[in-house]
Amino acid sequence: MSLPRIFQFSATSLQDYVDCARRFQLRYVLQVAWPAPEVEPIAEQEHHGRLARDFHRLVHQHLLGLPTDTLSAAVADPDLERWWQAYLAFVPTFAKAQVMPELSLSIPLAGYRVMAQYDAIVVRDQQLAGGGGGPGILIVDWKTYRQRPSRAWLGRRLQTRVYPVVLLQAGEALTDWPPLANLERPIEAENLEMCYWLAEYPDAPESFSYHVAALQADLDYLIGLIAQIAGQIGGGGPGTGSGPVPTREEAWPLTTDVHHCRFCNYRSLCGRGDLAGPLAEYVGDDYQDYLTAGETGLDIDLDWSQVQEIAY
Ligand code: SF4
Repeated sequence: MSLPRIFQFSATSLQDYVDCARRFQLRYVLQVAWPAPEVEPIAEQEHHGRLARDFHRLVHQHLLGLPTDTLSAAVADPDLERWWQAYLAFVPTFAKAQVMPELSLSIPLAGYRVMAQYDAIVVRDQQLAGGGGGPGILIVDWKTYRQRPSRAWLGRRLQTRVYPVVLLQAGEALTDWPPLANLERPIEAENLEMCYWLAEYPDAPESFSYHVAALQADLDYLIGLIAQIAGQIGGGGPGTGSGPVPTREEAWPLTTDVHHCRFCNYRSLCGRGDLAGPLAEYVGDDYQDYLTAGETGLDIDLDWSQVQEIAY
């Protein structure tokens, strides 16, 4: 067995592997669908997921130029309204920049492809004009976390490493995009910044500057990680052989950090418990690092084919 030939690594799938190799094997190699909730109460989680999708859709449509009043008229839920108003107060910071919403890029790496889905890429005017004054390219990711994650936790996320790498490596392919076509020189690592805008904490985004040494370190790390996964499957990647790559049938190592299991849908399959972790238990120091994102299911990897249009 091998990864599907169309498989593309992403920050999410790589994060799954880093958190638990067995989860990666079940989810992407064996493609085991295991109908269990990641967190309880599931209705509350699903409600939050719907709002997150609606919020991303609203922002996307707004950045494409749809009228604010028209979009605002479609917002009824009070949480969505709060996030929407916070976004509207924040987005004027892009007034003198050019914004590309919802851009997908992928690059070849270690015999596979690695993709990134960007919420927004912002090209600031000062860089277009060839001036200084800060990073020219801003990668913005809208986060609807209920709780604010620590900066250290965000910094460790694979997204913080994958997104700059993919954009910098794919930069030459973007020269047809007008904001970048106007640049006098290629995108440079020193001109890049990754910004997590937190809807519940809109006045304090978490930003990470980038630099060429980080690019080389992240490239080395990601190449090593993908090679490790490919080796665990059985060796090689797509294009290295004519048929399916043989693999060991035994389970890949289960994480030793059982906190990951509490909010993983495979926990009963792994013998790590039957009950989903309760939302209420996230609010405590013991689980500070597990308040967000993939572990809790509170953040969303958007599948745009499943996102409904917001009526207006
Ligand atoms: S339940 Fe735990 S060991 Fe099993 S896949 Fe999930 S995180 Fe890994």
